[in-house]
Amino acid sequence: MARSSKVSRHAVHYSIRPADLALHLFEITLTIASPDPDGQVVSLPAWIPGSYMIREFARNIVQIRAECNGRKVRLAKLDKHSWRAARCEGSLILHYQVYAWDLSVRAAHLDQTHGFFNGTSTFLQVHGQEALPQVVDILPPDNADGNGAYADWRVATSLRELKARRHRFGSYIADNYDELIDHPVEMGAFELIRFDAHGVPHEMAITGRVPNLDTTRLAADLKKICEQQIALFEPATRRAPMDRYVFLTMVIGDGYGGLEHRASTALICSRNDLPVKGQPAMSEGYRGFLGLCSHEYFHTWNVKRIKPAVFAPYDLRHENYTPLLWLFEGFTSYYDDLVLVRAGLIDEKTYLGLLAKTLNGVLRGAGRLKQSVTESSFDAWTKYYRQDENAPNAVVSYYTKGSLVALLLDLTIRAGTKGKRSLDDVMRTLWRRHGRDFYSPKTGATGPGVTEADIDALFDEVSGLSLKALLDRAVRGTKDLPLDEAFAALAVTMTPSSKSARPSLEVRTRKEGGDCKLASVHEGGAAHLAGLSAGDVLVAIDGLRVTASNLETTLARYRVGDTIGVHAFRRDELMTFSVSLKADSAQQYAFEPRDKPVAAAKLRKAWLKARS
Ligand SMILES: [Zn+2]
Repeated sequence: MARSSKVSRHAVHYSIRPADLALHLFEITLTIASPDPDGQVVSLPAWIPGSYMIREFARNIVQIRAECNGRKVRLAKLDKHSWRAARCEGSLILHYQVYAWDLSVRAAHLDQTHGFFNGTSTFLQVHGQEALPQVVDILPPDNADGNGAYADWRVATSLRELKARRHRFGSYIADNYDELIDHPVEMGAFELIRFDAHGVPHEMAITGRVPNLDTTRLAADLKKICEQQIALFEPATRRAPMDRYVFLTMVIGDGYGGLEHRASTALICSRNDLPVKGQPAMSEGYRGFLGLCSHEYFHTWNVKRIKPAVFAPYDLRHENYTPLLWLFEGFTSYYDDLVLVRAGLIDEKTYLGLLAKTLNGVLRGAGRLKQSVTESSFDAWTKYYRQDENAPNAVVSYYTKGSLVALLLDLTIRAGTKGKRSLDDVMRTLWRRHGRDFYSPKTGATGPGVTEADIDALFDEVSGLSLKALLDRAVRGTKDLPLDEAFAALAVTMTPSSKSARPSLEVRTRKEGGDCKLASVHEGGAAHLAGLSAGDVLVAIDGLRVTASNLETTLARYRVGDTIGVHAFRRDELMTFSVSLKADSAQQYAFEPRDKPVAAAKLRKAWLKARS
């Protein structure tokens, strides 16, 4: 393992060491063998691919210094992300510390229990040398080989080993900077689950205590999911796009999140979502966790290889605007649960229930009538990723509505071609044209990304139908999707649930102490029409004290049509509102499968059928 004091024979060579676990500091040394003679520029990304928000990771660099041939040289700060080192002949070495205390899948986290980092948080980009191989020595905490503390720490990552045994500290290598930052690293005393999917080794590293974790079931269920997806994209060869795959799972009391990478994913989940030995029932939490794993795994094809043109390559300094996140996130959201039913992990009834839940969620937000999923994709950086209390009234989710667009197109193609074609064929065509050879191992070059024009032509070409008008309406329009007709063709009835006789304020609330604070007020609902606002703290309804826990039961004493007085604090001023109670204005639906017509029911069976 090369130490930083020696000059590396690799052009770009990092070492990273958990230096102070209590202060959450990684120490990084970057050796540049042949720096730019005019002054080497280095920078840290402003964002991490997959999470479309400017995060300015360089703000977590605590200290940085440079030396040239053992002599200290000046580092000039150019902007919030970048530095230029003074001229240096010979090798330039940078030393810096990164503060790692963000328990999310997007950044870095370090303490006595584990270390986790994304390269976007830790590895400075060496300008002009991004295409060269990048070597990184992953070092253990200091006393790992002393008195035994941290001696049980191992390393989980999809980075390729250069001089390291699997799961051990040592030297790892990436072909270029783009690859280096696409393999997050976990270190600690994690539990390791292994399985093969169509011949490719997969593993899940689980950090955090999970009593009685049913590892056998977890491995078996993940295997089914992965094999369904591999077979979906490569039905003939069953060839996965990577040599191995790693799920990095951080388990905490209450959490949920995932971020996709080319051969791995970083996940955060709640302890109680994981399966318990001897309890074979499918809990809602576990189903959600499998859906998350399925989602991130699907991204291995859709967004890590089939990419929007503007991501090929990424510009890590600025926002990368694409109108197509409805395809990359929405279609991935469609397939994540569809794969669960195809893999036999959930049944048809549960799946239709999940679809109804998604549809009903979309129908609840007035934002869907103002913003198309194309616009929502483009503005992800400032709207979807930075939602405030007005989001339900202003923003549509390219995840949920995008998944309904996928559903609509899939059902329409299946019905229009009598089952000969489906959205699976569209995904496979995208894969062949844009994904399969995206990373060229020979040249290190990346393939052509997908443009909006490619997508516009694709559905008609693959299906042989005329879908342009439907696609336009679905992705560039704001009218609700004609899902009922599409479902009818597969013998599924879309039933409006009867309007509840119980009144609704149509608000989202947040518990603050015992108080009931309005988190958001839905446009057109009784609260909005009475003048209540997000941020108001409800005090009393009809003269009776209302709290976070009794709002529903208090309201339930009244009927639609009643008018009641509501007291609320806005800031510290008590205000009175007269609320005319009405039923929930959002239409909600349930989906019901039918046996007839037989041909339509057959189409539905084929839609949900496993690929054996
Ligand atoms: Zn996603």
